[in-house]
Amino acid sequence: MPKYIAGIDEGTTGARTFVINEDGETVGLAAAELTQNYPHPGWIEHDPQEIVRIQLETFRGAMHQAGIRPDDLAYVGLTNQRETALVWEKDTGQPIYRAIVWASRQTVDVVEQWKEQGLGEQIESTTGLIPDAYYSASKIRWILDQVPGAQERAEKGELLAGTIDTWLVWKFTGGKQHVTEFSNASRTMMFNLAKGEWDDDLLAAYNIPKRMLPEVRSSNAVMGDLNATFGVDVPICGILGDQQAGLFGQAAYSPGQVKMTYGTAGVLNINSGDAPKPVPGLTPSIAWGINGELTYEIEGVQFAQGKTMQWLRDDLKLIHTAPDSEWYAGQVPSTDGVYLVPAFTGLSAPIWDPYARAAIIGMSNATTRLHVIRAAVESMVYQTRDVIDAAQDGTGISIPELRVDGGAVKNNFLCQLQADILGIPVVRPKNQEAAVYGAMLMGGLGMGQWSSLDALAELWEVDRVFEPEMGRDEAESLYAGWIAARDLTRGWLKKAGRA
Ligand code: ADP
Repeated sequence: MPKYIAGIDEGTTGARTFVINEDGETVGLAAAELTQNYPHPGWIEHDPQEIVRIQLETFRGAMHQAGIRPDDLAYVGLTNQRETALVWEKDTGQPIYRAIVWASRQTVDVVEQWKEQGLGEQIESTTGLIPDAYYSASKIRWILDQVPGAQERAEKGELLAGTIDTWLVWKFTGGKQHVTEFSNASRTMMFNLAKGEWDDDLLAAYNIPKRMLPEVRSSNAVMGDLNATFGVDVPICGILGDQQAGLFGQAAYSPGQVKMTYGTAGVLNINSGDAPKPVPGLTPSIAWGINGELTYEIEGVQFAQGKTMQWLRDDLKLIHTAPDSEWYAGQVPSTDGVYLVPAFTGLSAPIWDPYARAAIIGMSNATTRLHVIRAAVESMVYQTRDVIDAAQDGTGISIPELRVDGGAVKNNFLCQLQADILGIPVVRPKNQEAAVYGAMLMGGLGMGQWSSLDALAELWEVDRVFEPEMGRDEAESLYAGWIAARDLTRGWLKKAGRA
């Protein structure tokens, strides 16, 4: 049995490939940046051929660094940016338009039209998702509308559609496999959450021909091999959308287990067991499907987590680097009543108020930049509490601990305050690349490298546990101040006559 595993991480900002050895150590890692195309304000598109090219470059780079050849690999796992979608020609493999990225707003009108047709409730009850341009369906509809003749060609079976996992597997297998898996499919707004299949009624309402869509397989299924790319039989096995991959990589295999990723944005994912659990303000999705059995999750997105640090650094110039925030925040015993609500583009989960705007409130003439920096770090913590409270209230699931990852969790101040404000331990694992490892572990289940989830759970190792130290009264009083500040920002654009 070959000893190495490769993990492909196709992200919004770039491509990475990891190679790990049989002890789980990273022995090869290569990364490349992906061009962001902004053809109009609010639109974001990726060149699908560039995605393939840089992904292959990093693949070769990581193998070179590890000193191995493709046939030294046992298998390849993959995690990807979700929702981003494209359409290509079945015969030539040529995309008919660039991939429309999840964050792109160019299809807002498509979704508005669907809502006007009265589809809103059906979409939500079938897919679990609140209708939005964020998800893949409107992006595919838009491409079929904008490219002349595309609808007709799609109906004839000449065009294929997919999310980025589907595209990469199709290209890597030389066009042999047109497949996806449950976690990615559940973020398309075309997938029946409870039944675990493409929803025929919604597809008919969207007028998206089902024959364009990939076959949905288990997340641990073998999806094809690398014959067409590297001339070797190495299987592609273990695919998950990035956030679900993170949940899996954090060994959150039981209902109530939670991971929080503090990246540019923040994403909380809660394993909700074997049935979808709708919660007001949060989105239910599929966490993964293993051998056809589905596990569900609940998800809460916060638009501005590390983003707030970037703003302090690049725009306010209060700090030089994001990690500096830890030192500055520790220079004052509290914010002295100052709150920073980072609603730069509105409030996200669980409030969802596009009219809210950011605020710093509670300042006196004793306020210094240290208080403001501390308030910014604290905002990351309070936002996470907002989502966790919503999840616990909405499901009755009690969350015992928070497993954290993402670029900001090196910040010990942040992790400690998070434990204090939640009143539960915050656990930082040794391996903070939860998503790509999650995909590789999922592949290991499919390939028989590991026999069970219990075996996988043993691989997960703790770096540090932050136990709550603050008194509950103090924690609740700080959080109550946050709620008051946050609520002041709600509907701001309307209050100010700017919307
Ligand atoms: P993404 O994958 O979303 O690009 P990362 O997981 O790499 O993000 O995290 C980077 C984000 O974390 C940046 O927004 C940065 O401002 C923030 N960040 C990085 N280090 C720290 C730190 N020590 N304290 C607070 N924020 C940090």
